[in-house]
Amino acid sequence: MTDDLLQDLWLHRSADVAVNTLTIRADRVTVHAATTGGEAGCPSCGTVSTRVHSSYVRRLDDSAAGRRRVVVELRVRRFRCREQACPRATFVEQAAGLTFRHGRRSQGLQTALQQLARMASRGVV
Ligand SMILES: [Zn+2]
Repeated sequence: MTDDLLQDLWLHRSADVAVNTLTIRADRVTVHAATTGGEAGCPSCGTVSTRVHSSYVRRLDDSAAGRRRVVVELRVRRFRCREQACPRATFVEQAAGLTFRHGRRSQGLQTALQQLARMASRGVV
């Protein structure tokens, strides 16, 4: 699988995410990716920061691929807030269209599950 195909498969979800590799096993596909944006906005005060404090890997469940579970292992960065008066010293960046705060699944899977729940509550499914 080429890097271009990987990017085409995943970058439509977030322009600031680069897919590095895929690991394909019988029951699971793992997408190894990292955020690439140069800055992030503090969720408390809105100040944009480029000062990276640290990074770590978030594991996100994503929509299945056939019968395989899909997990995104996304390296995200923790930034220092530059605003002295802000109560939040550091914050973790979000990848638009892929992550949301404290989420353990991708935004796409979250949206699909919410739509299924709404359909179930109306007796559609
Ligand atoms: Zn702040």
